[in-house]
Amino acid sequence: MADKNYYDILGVSKDASPDDIKSAYRKLAKKYHPDINKEPGAADKFKEVNEAYECLSDPTKKSNYDNYGSASGPQGFSGGFGGGAGGFGGFGDFSDFGDIFSNIFGGFGGATRTQGARGEDLQTQITLSFEEAVFGCTKDINITRVESCASCKGTGAKNGTEYTQCSECHGTGQVRYTETSMFGRVIRQGPCKKCNGTGKDIKEKCTDCGGNGYKRVSSTISVNIPAGIDDGQVLTMRGKGNCGKRGGEDGDLHIIVKVKEHKVLVRDGFDLSLKVYVPFYTLLLGGEIEIPLPKGTTTLKIPELTQSGTLFKLKGKGIKYLNRETYGNLLVTVVAESPKTLSKNDKKMVEALRDSIKSDNFSRYKDYLKDMKNL
Ligand SMILES: [Zn+2]
Ligand SMILES: [Zn+2]
Repeated sequence: MADKNYYDILGVSKDASPDDIKSAYRKLAKKYHPDINKEPGAADKFKEVNEAYECLSDPTKKSNYDNYGSASGPQGFSGGFGGGAGGFGGFGDFSDFGDIFSNIFGGFGGATRTQGARGEDLQTQITLSFEEAVFGCTKDINITRVESCASCKGTGAKNGTEYTQCSECHGTGQVRYTETSMFGRVIRQGPCKKCNGTGKDIKEKCTDCGGNGYKRVSSTISVNIPAGIDDGQVLTMRGKGNCGKRGGEDGDLHIIVKVKEHKVLVRDGFDLSLKVYVPFYTLLLGGEIEIPLPKGTTTLKIPELTQSGTLFKLKGKGIKYLNRETYGNLLVTVVAESPKTLSKNDKKMVEALRDSIKSDNFSRYKDYLKDMKNL
């Protein structure tokens, strides 16, 4: 379920700079803005352009999109991320849009504003061991988020009942007014100043939340970490950020994942690599070495006359891909190690070996000597 091609929508290349992306977006947003462009399809195009920009202007979403084809990162995380708000998913809302647009048009753009305010996104970090990241796990995290006050059901009034409708906005929380903008006179809608957009005239404040209807609450939530997650990736739990105000949508919780390194294995995406120093005679005579896997170990057979620096690819012994039954590889490089000391007898035998092996047997060294002569 890949998102659309956002680069095509904005007409920029994949390596476009943030400034290029911004300027392409501005041009298109102006061109298709529903208040300017009344042609059929312009509004859809406008929405699409904003969707593309929302993704490509956000480093996290852009990186997710570049890597996974979706702004929300690796797909199919919904397993443990229910949370009532639909689990993981792309962003389908344009609640930030008002802000983006007001930066460009100086506050113009009332038509597309939603009435409520979206809750702020929250960010936290978790650290996983190498194994937890490779095999997946469940982690409890503590977060403090703004929630609707339970005592007054978010009304801010004592017992949730001690209020009347605001006389200014008749309970809608919104008032209309005219404003002059670069496009002429426009009718704008904004929060009612009298009731602060709540639509309520509070007679007696809720003592629990001081009358604003919201309070900060600490809680522990359980997060299912999918197998294959890597350092630096971000898990987004929709609707687990601060709660929205005046009916606005809840914000998201972004969890930045840190993964500790393995003692010997080096992770590169879903592949693992390892460099093993073995006694020089193992490469000459052949032998077996024990190799660590993400879980357990395996035996690598080294054939005789193996060159130092040879890379052995253990297919499918790497890390499981996110949401796929595919595994990366384990790449083992074997390097000859010389002994630290030689006894008199050892030395005699190595010298005998040297005299016994014909120099023709070392083709690469021979080529080198030839090249040196012809410098
Ligand atoms: Zn009002
Ligand atoms: Zn309250």
